Amino acid sequence: MTSTALAPQPLAERLAAVQARIAATCARAHRDPTSVKLLPVSKTVPTTRLRHALALGLRDFGENRVQELLGKRDEMGSDAARWHLIGHLQTNKVRRIATRIASFHALDSLRVATALDRALFAEGRSLDVLVQVNTAGQPQQYGLPPESLLPFLRELRACQCLKVRGLMTLAIFSADPARVRPCFDRLRVLRDEAREALPEAASLQELSMGMSGDFETAIEAGATILRLGRVLFGDRGVPDSAYWPQAAGTGDGEVGPKILDTATD
Ligand SMILES: *Cc1c(COP(=O)(O)O)cnc(C)c1O
Repeated sequence: MTSTALAPQPLAERLAAVQARIAATCARAHRDPTSVKLLPVSKTVPTTRLRHALALGLRDFGENRVQELLGKRDEMGSDAARWHLIGHLQTNKVRRIATRIASFHALDSLRVATALDRALFAEGRSLDVLVQVNTAGQPQQYGLPPESLLPFLRELRACQCLKVRGLMTLAIFSADPARVRPCFDRLRVLRDEAREALPEAASLQELSMGMSGDFETAIEAGATILRLGRVLFGDRGVPDSAYWPQAAGTGDGEVGPKILDTATD
């Protein structure tokens, strides 16, 4: 990187700053900080930089796309890190990914669930999954509509190799916590209702919610896994619309919160 107005901040400093913000928010929200896990989201981040993350003790990485995940996993060595697929999965890619990830955060279709289950069964394996729910109410977003969650969980009973650990959501893209918070509250209530309604839903613990622009709000609402990219690795050169169909805007003229500094390590 050439000279910039802002001095680039090393990953170690960014990580420490994020951990301090998580700890402070947990204290304010009367939450045990060990109940909140940080999942670094490494999409667009090259493996040279991920090796620095490994050296800092980070072992888990979230990737949005199958191709990118598998490429980095190969480059770094298949046991170097634990990879989590946090983006949409197509049925035709299930067999390539099923046994190569530690968890899948974006399950929202029975077809994909069945294909995953079959691929895992053939290898004698199981997989931790989170069911993605569309709490923002925007039709073009991935995730189940909230009212479909219970029937979907019932259908997942047939998929013995899938361990349903919890729920995942992306909040509405807004810099206003008052608009974001209801999405996160919704996910927590859905989890609690599912646990009441279905005996097998006792294993639903995790709430994967909160990203760089809204993770403190997510902690206040009960998040157990924060998926953090830019706040750790710096702004991406790729617009988020390349990853999410809805990220170009919220339909009301707002765009996601921006993080304007740069990062190196
Ligand atoms: C990129 C991504 C994140 C992280 O977003 P940041 O704003 O960089 O923290 C979280 N979840 C999903 C599904 C993503 O694709």
